[in-house]
Amino acid sequence: MGPLVYTPVEDIPKIHEDLRKGFRSGKTKSIAYRKEQLAGLAYMIKDNTERFQDALKADLGRPPIESDLLDISAALSEAKDAYDNVEKWAKPEKARWDFNWFAMKPTIRKEPKGVVMIIAPFNFPMLLMLGHLASAIAAGNAVLMKPSELCQATNQLIADLVPQYLDSDLYRVVNGDVPVTTKLLELRWDHILYTGGGRVAKIVCAAAAKHLTPVTTELGGKSPVIIDPKCDMKLAARRIFWGKIANAGQVCVAPDYVLIPRDAQDHFIQEVQDIYKTFYPTDPATSDSYSRIISEGHTARIKRYIDETKGEIIIGGEVDVGKKYIAPTVVKNVPFDDSLMDEEIFGPVLPIVPVKDLDEAIEVVNSRDHALSLYVFTQDPAFKAKVFDNTQSGSAVANEVVIHVGATGLPFGGIGPSGSGYHTGKYGFDVFTHHRGTLDNPGWVDTLILKGRYPPYTPEKIRNL
Ligand code: NAD
Repeated sequence: MGPLVYTPVEDIPKIHEDLRKGFRSGKTKSIAYRKEQLAGLAYMIKDNTERFQDALKADLGRPPIESDLLDISAALSEAKDAYDNVEKWAKPEKARWDFNWFAMKPTIRKEPKGVVMIIAPFNFPMLLMLGHLASAIAAGNAVLMKPSELCQATNQLIADLVPQYLDSDLYRVVNGDVPVTTKLLELRWDHILYTGGGRVAKIVCAAAAKHLTPVTTELGGKSPVIIDPKCDMKLAARRIFWGKIANAGQVCVAPDYVLIPRDAQDHFIQEVQDIYKTFYPTDPATSDSYSRIISEGHTARIKRYIDETKGEIIIGGEVDVGKKYIAPTVVKNVPFDDSLMDEEIFGPVLPIVPVKDLDEAIEVVNSRDHALSLYVFTQDPAFKAKVFDNTQSGSAVANEVVIHVGATGLPFGGIGPSGSGYHTGKYGFDVFTHHRGTLDNPGWVDTLILKGRYPPYTPEKIRNL
């Protein structure tokens, strides 16, 4: 697998113009055309699954089963879902019946926004690029894809395959780093869907504001886990620990830190230690079931958090920056002002923050930015309700982590600093759709209603309004 070939910056205006022409050709108005392209996308993923697994292994050292579960099949099911439902989603909708308006047949047309851009992060290059692409195709847009330069092998493969499976008049990939994205952001788009960190989101939103381009931001943050000391601790340990080590913690909804009453901390740790031994009976560094960090820079960033923690490392802690390896790491007695509590960790390090009780846990959550996901482990409905009712987050999940992103029919998105807007399924279709209100008013309506709207405004007309 060769290195990622960057698109020359000077080619970008022409690509943008070509997409605009492609959109104006009107091809995407046809639902049959959209379905043909969605089928092409699904076949592109299906025909090349092994190549994608290999590329993801090269980029992230990711075990093929994790790539299948969390990335490849997730992208494929977005394409299939859009293929199966696009007729229904794109159908014009009648407005709610109202006596004063029904004669004018008020109808909502589902129209494409136009030429849209999708900017994707490195961690799930299939789902977060091709999954979103499925929504944009279903909605009838022309699409510019800008994948992350950090995921070299996977994104080169995507760039090679897209022209083989999809119509190049409408769907194009542009690869590159900051100068390429900066050039793209100078141009006028009809919508931008950006997934990534908050720092870059501000750059994207500022550039989009110059054209008043709407932006959907899918960001990250520190997703907390609150543990009820009376919960099924074995289950909690297994699921939370898996959520932390899958893709080596590089998951936007990975459980970032755990809040647990101080006297229950050791029980949870015991269960985590037991499950750790079953996941990795020998050294995780030699296991084929454990991913690597995407770059040396990100490995060094996470190493800094570990080096500076005031907590007590009870599992892992080993780091090899050159090999982009960080052992699954669990740290206990982490104080609120710790290095591990500053930023989203985005790596396989789990800080356990002891608290007095549930009230204090809720206070900690509410003192921070709204998270992308919030998790609670409890079998007590009142405990769960108290957490859900007294906090805010993109999603709220009980007794599970991470997998809610793929739940059919649920919206996925953040709130405040964790993002705005929703995606997946019909919600993804709506991101790229303009709901165009229409009506057609027959002449006879003037004799029945609205007769008083024309001057002169006589007292009789006003009385009869
Ligand atoms: P990132 O913000 O570094 O990069 C995202 C994209 O922005 C890449 O395509 C990159 O090339 C581009 N970019 C980088 N610098 C830029 C600049 N100066 N100007 C314009 N574009 C620029 O994010 P990342 O490290 O790839 O991804 C990790 C982040 O993404 C985490 O915060 C994670 O939580 C978040 N994330 C969110 C979701 C979600 O659905 N909410 C999903 C996955 C990841």
